[in-house]
Formats: sequence, C-alpha cells, structure tokens
Amino acid sequence: MPDLVTESFIDGVSVSSAQTYPNIDPSTGAVLGDVARGGGSEIDQAVTAARRAGRGWRATTPEQRADLLSALAGLIDREVETLARLESEDSGKPLSQARNDARVCARYFRFYSRVIESYYGLSIPLRPDLHVYTRREPLGVTGNIVAWNYPMQLFGRGVAPAIATGNAAVLKPADETPRTAVYLARLATEAGLPPGVINVVTGLGPEAGAALAAHPGIDHLSFVGSTEVGRLIAGAAARRVAPVTLELGGKSAHLVFGDADIERAATVIANAILQNAGQTCSAGSRVLVDEQVHDELLQRIADRFATVSIGPGITDPDLGPLVSRKQQDRVRGYVESATQATQDTQAKGVDIVCGGTVAEPDGITGGAYFTPTLIDGVDPNAKIAREEIFGPVLTVTTFAAEDEAVALANGTDYALMGAVWTTDLARAHRVAAQVDGGQIYVNTYGAGGGVELPFGGFRKSGYGREKGVEALDAYTATKTIVVQL
Ligand code: NAD
Repeated sequence: MPDLVTESFIDGVSVSSAQTYPNIDPSTGAVLGDVARGGGSEIDQAVTAARRAGRGWRATTPEQRADLLSALAGLIDREVETLARLESEDSGKPLSQARNDARVCARYFRFYSRVIESYYGLSIPLRPDLHVYTRREPLGVTGNIVAWNYPMQLFGRGVAPAIATGNAAVLKPADETPRTAVYLARLATEAGLPPGVINVVTGLGPEAGAALAAHPGIDHLSFVGSTEVGRLIAGAAARRVAPVTLELGGKSAHLVFGDADIERAATVIANAILQNAGQTCSAGSRVLVDEQVHDELLQRIADRFATVSIGPGITDPDLGPLVSRKQQDRVRGYVESATQATQDTQAKGVDIVCGGTVAEPDGITGGAYFTPTLIDGVDPNAKIAREEIFGPVLTVTTFAAEDEAVALANGTDYALMGAVWTTDLARAHRVAAQVDGGQIYVNTYGAGGGVELPFGGFRKSGYGREKGVEALDAYTATKTIVVQL
C-alpha cells in the first residue's frame, strides 16, 4: 500500500486535495505513492497567494531578489542527491542524468541571480526638452505548466526568470513527475523566499492544468509540452488576452555531409537520442545523411546502440525506461506503423537496423523499456519521419545534394533544433542559416544544457524564447515614460 502523499505547496504550506491519483514508477510498474489531485479550488488558492505575495515581491530590489535566488541555488546543490533520486523514480531517468538536471536547475537560479542586477531599461534621446526612459516591469503572476521529461530543468527555466523579474509564480508539474517540483518549492521557503512567491499545484492536466490556463488572475502563461495541448493553452490565453510562451514538440534533424568527421558525428548522434530515452523535445531524431557516408555512419551508430545497458533509472544504466507504459505503447505503435506501411504498399521497405522492440531487463515485466532503434530507408513523407516519436528511435533518410538535405530538414511541421555535420566552413554557415529552428549546432549537439542560450521554436514547435537573458523580456512588459523638461 502506498504510504506517501505528495501534496501541493501553496503560500509556504502543504495543501491536500479531496482526491489523489497513484504515482507509478516506470522502471518497475510499482506504485511510489499517491499525489494530491488538485483542481480549480487549489489553483484559485495558489493564484490568490501569488497575487498577495507578488505585491511585496515586485517592490524588492534586484539585489535582494538576486541574493534569494542565489541562496536557493545553493540549497538545490546541497540536495542534488535527494532530488535526483525522486526524479529518477518518478520518470525512470538514469540517476546520473537526474543529478545533472538538478545541477542545471540550480544553475538557472544562479544565472538569473547574476543577470537580473544588470537588466536595465533604456534612455531614449528623443528631444532636448524631453526625458524619455523605459522600465521593464513584471507582469504579475505567471502560470508555468511543464512536461515530465526534464521536470527540474523546466522548473528552473520557467520559475527563475519569472521571479527574478519580480513576478510570483504558480507551477503545475506534469502528472507523472510531481515530487521534485514540490521539493524545490519547499527549498525556496528554506532559502528565505517569501511564502506565495513560488507555488506548486499538483494534479492532472485537464483539471489543474486547464484551471491554471483559464484563471483570470494569471498574467502570463508559459507552457512546455505537446503541440496538441499547446493549442488549448494558447486558446485559453487568447480569451483573456494574456501573453503566452509555447515550447512544444520537435523533429530535429542531423544533416551529415560526406566530408564530416563520421566517428564523432555517430557518437554524438547516438548519445543524444539515448539521453532520457529519446524523450527530449530537442532530440535529434532524424538522421539525414549523404549517401556516400551512409553505411559508415549507420554501422557506427548501430555499434554504439549494441553496447547500451538498459535497466531501472535508479541503477544508472545508459538507457532507462520510457516515462510510462502509455508512452511505450506509443513508441511501439510508431515503429509498427513503419513496417506495416512497407507491407501495405510493397514499396522498397524500411530496414530496422537494430532494436524496434520492448525490453524486459532482468526479467522486469512491469517496466516501460524500449530498445535503442535505428530505422533506415525512411520515406520523408512517412508518419515516423514527420511526427514526434519521443523514444530512443532514429530514422534515417539519405540525400545526394546540399539543397536536398536542407529541404528534407525543413520538411516537417516542427522546427526546434538542428545540427550540421561538415568540415566545410562555408557550407556550415550556409546550411545553418537555411535550416529552420531556434538553435542550430555545427559539429556538436545540445551544448550541455544551454541555460545561457535563447531557446524556442519556429512553426509548430512553438513561439517565444526561454533561457538566456532573452527570457527576462518574456516575463516583463516595457513601460515608456516621457517627461517634459
Ligand atoms: P503534454 O502536453 O501532454 O503535457 C504537458 C503539461 O500540460 C503537463 O503538465 C500536463 O499535465 C499539462 N496538460 C495536459 N493537458 C492539459 C490541458 N488540457 N490543459 C492544461 N494543461 C494540460 O506533454 P507531455 O507528454 O507531458 O510532454 C511531452 C511533450 O513536451 C513533447 O511533445 C515534447 O516535445 C514537449 N516538450 C517541449 C519542450 C520545449 O522546450 N520545446 C521541452 C520539453 C518537452
């Protein structure tokens, strides 16, 4: 029997809900405990607390806020081990990756503690008899609705710039991964942040999430999740004319040219899709490769996949389970759709070079494991080449010329990231400019967390930018003041 209930954290205290739902460990299928199923009433409580706390918080100096954010970063660093264990159990993420997420979360609070003290308005020399200046003012209360794939990083990425600029925040963690968010909100109180500046309401998306998106007391919404739900959030925000940042799905491509360092490309591409079992919005899930180096690249990726250890996240394997059995079914469905389409059309088929099956490491039957999968010969119009799979699955399509590679890269509804692999400097810059996406890498990928780098999508990958100094603009509005001298 579960003996632990994860409750919302509102105005500095735990808040229970009338109902709960079970928190399932995807590594084993076991119940980790229960989670308070917050809804409209808890959201209302949290928004009211945030509005009250926000009035005092926005009147603090950047220095005071910087000190508190920095203190919180220190506490997160102190608690890395506990946070990592909670995250690994909730999400199935390998322990060392969960540790990294906790450190990156601390880094967000530290980074914004530093930059907020040099975030200024402008003085505009309009006329000699006018003194014109701008102020960046906080919006009020921000609502942050986040996904389950990087819960701690997404907490830091959303909440740190929001509160650094003087807003108060209400965060709804993903249904599957509530515990680290509640733990982080508690640490904020220990760090000395006033109660109500950071609130967390646990619950289910269509209940707590929808209530947060629709609440009239929310002045800005930041959503990280699927394109499908992003549409609902944007609709709810539009009805209230509230600004919204949407960080949605991706189908990012690696463009591997014939002159690339293939050994390096293969290692980075394989490791990037293994990270968090491929459940990364920015996962480079499509490999577009020059036909001249196709065989070598695939051989090297397959060799890497063959050495992967699979097991419960807490044992720190290379590859943990997917976040749930539902996600496992989804990934399996995509792989089956590829082979099925081949049989139906009797066209030149896809080739499952390796993987393509669920796994039961150490005889664990209740887990949500999926083997690293490499699918060659993928038609760019096929479902698996266009839709986000969100698992450890790479699809491979060949090209013969540069413009063909660019057209393939830009050939999906998504445009989040991309990578160009080449030793030709001119081509690197030319192609990086032509590929759509919020971040394009050359001869590398992911750049280690990227707290400092503006991040976001084009097209159905969303709009607005998080991370870096640019995120501060999203959580503030410019006021221009004109003084007749
Ligand atoms: P999801 O859209 O199902 O859920 C995301 C969040 O929205 C969760 O907190 C969920 O509870 C909430 N939610 C669900 N239904 C809701 C509703 N009707 N109203 C309000 N809130 C609701 O996404 P997911 O499956 O948790 O996450 C995976 C997706 O997130 C992938 O598409 C991935 O690419 C994307 N993602 C994007 C980024 C990015 O920065 N672009 C980062 C991480 C994940």
